[in-house]
Amino acid sequence: MTSDDLLARHRAVLPSWMPLYYAEPLELVAGSGRRVTDAAGRTYLDFFGGVLTTMVGHDIPEIREAVERQLRTGLVHTSTLYLIRRQVELAEKIARLSGIPDARVFFTNSGTEANEAALLVATNHRRSHQILAVRNSYHGRSYATMGVTGNRGWSASALNPLQVAWLHSGERLRGLLARLDAADRVDAAVEDLREVLATQTAGEVACLIAEPVQGVGGFVHGPDGLFAAWKKVLDEHGILLISDEVQTGWGRTGEHFWGYQAHGVTPDLLTFAKGIGNGFALAGVVGRAEVLESVPAISFSTFGGNPVSTAAGNAVLDYLLDHDLQGNAARVGAILGDGLRAATAGLDRVAEVRGKGLMLAVEFVHPGTVEPDAALTTRVFEACRAGGLLVGKGGLYGNVIRMGPPLTLTEDEAREGLAILVDAIRASIEA
Ligand code: PMP
Repeated sequence: MTSDDLLARHRAVLPSWMPLYYAEPLELVAGSGRRVTDAAGRTYLDFFGGVLTTMVGHDIPEIREAVERQLRTGLVHTSTLYLIRRQVELAEKIARLSGIPDARVFFTNSGTEANEAALLVATNHRRSHQILAVRNSYHGRSYATMGVTGNRGWSASALNPLQVAWLHSGERLRGLLARLDAADRVDAAVEDLREVLATQTAGEVACLIAEPVQGVGGFVHGPDGLFAAWKKVLDEHGILLISDEVQTGWGRTGEHFWGYQAHGVTPDLLTFAKGIGNGFALAGVVGRAEVLESVPAISFSTFGGNPVSTAAGNAVLDYLLDHDLQGNAARVGAILGDGLRAATAGLDRVAEVRGKGLMLAVEFVHPGTVEPDAALTTRVFEACRAGGLLVGKGGLYGNVIRMGPPLTLTEDEAREGLAILVDAIRASIEA
């Protein structure tokens, strides 16, 4: 069976609104470390990890053994109505690491569900369904999480169950706050928040949900300290802050374990997903007991925190801490980021190389403007694949190349991928 057959069958049976990467979609069949192999036997360096999900790498013995050990017990699933040792252990570790005092942890199967749970908690705690969300954000594909996603391209429903007022993200390149320096952008974003509260909301507001670095949005972020400046205003009204750490958690940004820590503030609720399962479905929400306990009726999850995914989660977290992968993200991320900045300096098609740690993006524009160049971005994206490197694509205008490799990426692999990417950029600009 060729991948062509599979593509035809995929198109015949799966919904057309599920996007597939590449003009010739890729079927990956094996992985090892930071490399994956396709059905034709070609191997690629993986700088995307699914979408920042294969956090420790492919086929890591410690993770495989932990999962196999659980499978060998014969007990794959018990439901959360029973005591699950690995679930409790992982919750204890995450609660301790979260920085949230008196933390409680509720496990789910996806980032969407984690945010859905956080919104459920916040709206009940505040007895309000008014939400502040940020333009260019992505929080999931359920009814409520799409409602707080500030990107119409990813909000498959125009109907919103929540009342949402939109804030500027504090980004540097476009929009009302562009071209201001960092301190002025924080002030302007706070002014924007005050104005939105005064003019776009009425009565109580439940929460502000925000990503420290906007993932799907193309790794756009406001200045450090922005969340703290926002929180000062939120606290005047009792409004909760939800930090969506689905992409930014677990040390990926190199400088901190959680994205929110760059802002010098602790959120009321934190959501996590992706990397902690290293491919197994594992996600959740952490919050102060007083807040998380405000769900009005019993709630449970059939699969959330199941024995297999939490066996994986514990092994991933232990590996991450034992091997100081946050430190590696800072070190190797600097090689990749600095190298990319140096190689693209002076290219008028590259508006910006940005990001933190091993969460790095390049934004492509038409010369001398900030007008997005999605066609060039697609050429770069395809050229990377042809050169043996998998990266991601994103941004509000589809003009951003995103990289979120496993945090175990080595310096040699970073240099190897960088060379492929730089060649792809140069060739695509000349094409
Ligand atoms: N929040 C953020 C910041 C995300 O990037 C994503 C997934 N791209 C989600 C939530 C939703 O996670 P999931 O796909 O696991 O439902």
